[in-house]
Amino acid sequence: MRTIEELVNPHILSLVPYKSARDDFQGNADVYIDANESWYENESSANRYPDPLARDVRVLLEEKLGLPFSRTVIGNGSDELIDLLIRIFAEAGKDKILIETPTYGAYSVFASINNVGVLDAPLKRDLTLDIEEMKRSISEDRPKLTFICTPNNPTGKVYSLREIEEILKINDGITVVDEAYADFADNFESAISLIDKYPKLCVMRTLSKAWGIAGARIGILISDSYIRDLVVKVKPPYNVSVLAQRAAILTLKDSDKVKEIRDSVVNMRNSLSKELLSYSFVKEVINGDANFILVRVDDADKLYAYLSKRGIIVRNRTHERYLEGCLRITIGSDEEIGKLKEALNGYEG
Ligand SMILES: *Cc1c(COP(=O)(O)O)cnc(C)c1O
Repeated sequence: MRTIEELVNPHILSLVPYKSARDDFQGNADVYIDANESWYENESSANRYPDPLARDVRVLLEEKLGLPFSRTVIGNGSDELIDLLIRIFAEAGKDKILIETPTYGAYSVFASINNVGVLDAPLKRDLTLDIEEMKRSISEDRPKLTFICTPNNPTGKVYSLREIEEILKINDGITVVDEAYADFADNFESAISLIDKYPKLCVMRTLSKAWGIAGARIGILISDSYIRDLVVKVKPPYNVSVLAQRAAILTLKDSDKVKEIRDSVVNMRNSLSKELLSYSFVKEVINGDANFILVRVDDADKLYAYLSKRGIIVRNRTHERYLEGCLRITIGSDEEIGKLKEALNGYEG
């Protein structure tokens, strides 16, 4: 059984973090001449460095999403958090992460960038987790980190908390549960409830999907304080810009509108899923709980080319495991989905 300290890269354990001016002095003062910023504030109001700990954002995350303030750290998108976790725990040229394909591509890309190996316990044919294979890999191959994406991208499938806990029980490495699409799943059981019991568990959320600000790059890591403090220590001090923090505050305060859009996306997803089945070239719609639909057609490359020629861009997933013939369609506005249907109506198959 590896302790959490034993999982951390030794050079990270001994790292003395950079101390920014904003770390040295906290509180309110009249005159800030400590950080070599410009005193001149133009319309962007970005002349000052951002709060390294994004406190105002995190207060609202607790208020609006119930994410406890003391357990959150904000990344420049979840992508930065994935990269940071790999760099904190996995040693280049030696350690490995475990993923379950088909899944989000970023885990393996960031592992490769850091010269960290990638183990795969593929999903079963029905796109559920192969728990037995995951357990075997964890006990024999000893990955430092195991990434589980639920609802999974690109399948949209939710894994039960019971399955996730089965992995947590036997995993003495770090388990990262990526809940980027949680907001779209009805009656979603978040792994956040398990953090008290499993200090090696990390949960990730994002404001890029249901919360509507992909362009601002706001990813959220929720974990016990030991991992949180490591991430704070390793992250670039000013990783979340003033503009991004402002966007996060605006969207979190506008949560009624966010929920309204979320509901309309879910309704559109459910109705489009049914409608797509009426096209002769559609073989299957893979139902999921996210803001996209996976549709299997006779010839994915041909339909992809047809749609893109008409200025409609979907994601071609035909080369992913089990997803031969599949396109992933994000639920857009009524107008966008109207144009998609219009194009599909004119497709010869
Ligand atoms: C879109 C997505 C994210 C979000 O990444 P950001 O960097 O926060 O925009 C995270 N995980 C998965 C599985 C995703 O599909």
